[in-house]
Amino acid sequence: THRGWTYESLSAARQTLISPAVKLSYKKPLWIVRGERQFLYDHNGVEYLDAYNNVCHLGHCHPAVVQAVSKQMAILNTNTRYLHTAIVEYASRITATCPPELSVCIFVNSGSEANELALRLAYAYTRQKDLIVLDSAYHGNTNAVVEMSPYKTDHPDGPRAPSHVHKVVAPDDYRGLYRRDKYAPAELGPLYAKHVEETVRKIEHEGRKVAAFFCEGILGCAGQIVLPPGYLASCYKAVRQSGGVCVADEVQVGFGRAGTHMWVFQTQDVVPDIVTLGKPIGNGFPIGAVITRPEIARALGRLEYFNTFGGNPVACKAGLAVLDAIAAEGFMENARVVGNHLLSSLRALARKHPVIGDVRGMGLFLGVELVLDRHTLEPATALTSRVIDAIQQNDKILLGTDGPFNNVVKIKPPLCFTVADADKVIAAFDSALKQETQNATILAKL
Ligand code: PMP
Repeated sequence: THRGWTYESLSAARQTLISPAVKLSYKKPLWIVRGERQFLYDHNGVEYLDAYNNVCHLGHCHPAVVQAVSKQMAILNTNTRYLHTAIVEYASRITATCPPELSVCIFVNSGSEANELALRLAYAYTRQKDLIVLDSAYHGNTNAVVEMSPYKTDHPDGPRAPSHVHKVVAPDDYRGLYRRDKYAPAELGPLYAKHVEETVRKIEHEGRKVAAFFCEGILGCAGQIVLPPGYLASCYKAVRQSGGVCVADEVQVGFGRAGTHMWVFQTQDVVPDIVTLGKPIGNGFPIGAVITRPEIARALGRLEYFNTFGGNPVACKAGLAVLDAIAAEGFMENARVVGNHLLSSLRALARKHPVIGDVRGMGLFLGVELVLDRHTLEPATALTSRVIDAIQQNDKILLGTDGPFNNVVKIKPPLCFTVADADKVIAAFDSALKQETQNATILAKL
């Protein structure tokens, strides 16, 4: 049934043929052969509840996207050097979801390419070089954006961050410099934004100005951190006073996942200069997009931006099908309802399990931070990975971890996730924490 492959032969072949840099998840990696809605199926037909894949936004193999892609693939797939309705219709629909200033698109194939192009636009428009990014941020895999991703440059085997990349502290109100137990929510945004203001001043003191500030709507790789109110407004103001452009990286969190708005920057009441999109944009079909102001789009001058696959008719049809489904099937509302249910259930669970230090997020983009001690916040890193593996093996639910200490469980399922699915996650968490904390040393006296 699997063309002669066994789990063992496939694992061995993968190990020799695929670079070790391309990693598998879980202690015992899964062989997944099929996906449907919020479920994945392994080679033995075992069903897994996918609480982790935010790329298949509407659910795995959503029929409308499958149909749109297959149909267009059989008619035409070319580059963008011919007039075609799909690219124009998609541009019209996606810009309609953005503030009116953001009216021009360039389509690419991934979030990395989108940020790479945003960087190019920022350099061309400002003629400056200095960049401001947040601690633990990840913006993609090309050389230029890896170098502005502290998530990678702070890794012992990562590339060194060049001197024009300036890292500021992440506005983490749980374990960061300013915490919610000491400051009111309204104070936290401006306090954290001061670090961006100071960095701008430092760059100017050295005789230069800012090219760009990149920031996600909710910080994914930094551990599912929700920006405090007013944070982006203050940061954007400081960056713009220095002539820099503000880039909203919505690659991970966009398309209604946060539950209340299509784009998370909208929850911060700002209008970015450039928005970058990827991951969920094609429900698994590769597309990425840069949406910007016309004057910034013009900064490339007469130089052509050519991208063989970017904006091809099949990709644009996938994108259109995703936007149609978001509008027709109530996914954003579902993200809000199921997300809030998860948040309150996880908070209830935290009252029972002292190892849960924090529960945070918006919509269906949530984080559960595990700590050995609620006062010192010592990260429960090893425990977190054991919990994830236990839930995968015992309950057949897929989750992942992240954050600077890898002690944050990430919950970011397809948006068709139900309240009943959420309850399964809660029950699985409860039993995995019971099982895994039995042997772990909990230092806190709570
Ligand atoms: N930006 C953010 C915030 C991301 O999370 C990612 C991927 N994890 C990227 C950019 C890069 O996207 P891709 O891997 O699709 O190139």
